[in-house]
Amino acid sequence: MLDVSDEVRAEIGDEEADRLLDGGDAPGSYDCTSCRTPGDSEQERTSTVLFVGEETAVLAFAHATCIPSQVVPVSEEQLKGAVRSITGKDDDTAHTPVQEPGPVAPPPAGEHQATLGITCGLVLIEGELRPALVVEPNGPIARPGSMSQQDEFLPLLREQGFGNVTDMNQLPAPNPGWSALLAMGKLHAVLQPGSAGNQSAWWQAHQPLAVSEGWRAAANKAQAVLMYAAPAGTIGHQPREDLMRQALEQAAAQGVLVAAAMPLAGTAA
Ligand SMILES: [Zn+2]
Repeated sequence: MLDVSDEVRAEIGDEEADRLLDGGDAPGSYDCTSCRTPGDSEQERTSTVLFVGEETAVLAFAHATCIPSQVVPVSEEQLKGAVRSITGKDDDTAHTPVQEPGPVAPPPAGEHQATLGITCGLVLIEGELRPALVVEPNGPIARPGSMSQQDEFLPLLREQGFGNVTDMNQLPAPNPGWSALLAMGKLHAVLQPGSAGNQSAWWQAHQPLAVSEGWRAAANKAQAVLMYAAPAGTIGHQPREDLMRQALEQAAAQGVLVAAAMPLAGTAA
């Protein structure tokens, strides 16, 4: 019960695609590349997901209910991590919150090169635990071409559709065109609308960011995440989710918190 999308077929060729569909190379049981729980291509609809690096590609499988069959471009380094993850030679440490400084990809908006810290945590809104990404740069973000030392991180995000948070108990509004790329059970990138309807990476993990079981489950259930962002020095490194919540509430009270809801990449209707 395999799905092979046209774009995956174009990459692996008709012969391999047909062999998969005939069942010759079907995986049988597998670990879903999205939610990481077991799947069985003989029992349930299964998506083929092709991770393509600069030189190599890896075919993986996912529940069709988690993500559709698709091609996911990744760096060669990420691909090696993906292979380790598929073959199980992976010391995936799952604790919450998880934090990793990642380099900011030079985005079309052209923010000044700085490092973004991203923390994954669960926030309780309207009686439900929601998967959240909390983004905070390690220094001021200047407007492209500007010599000013003024921190333009929040104004730039507001211009890109993020809304001010005044109350942490309110669900942030969706920001169309943005999405979070969760693959192999890890956070790979935050994507923004690019030119000609394509998405480009606003943030890309240097190493894919490990997330906790609970966070992954919540993200897969909602098929969406909430992204919060605050200027450098606002949230800090919070070791516990209740402390992160407190810091977010303080930032909201000071008017220095923006947020948006965004779907998982590949799931957007
Ligand atoms: Zn799954």
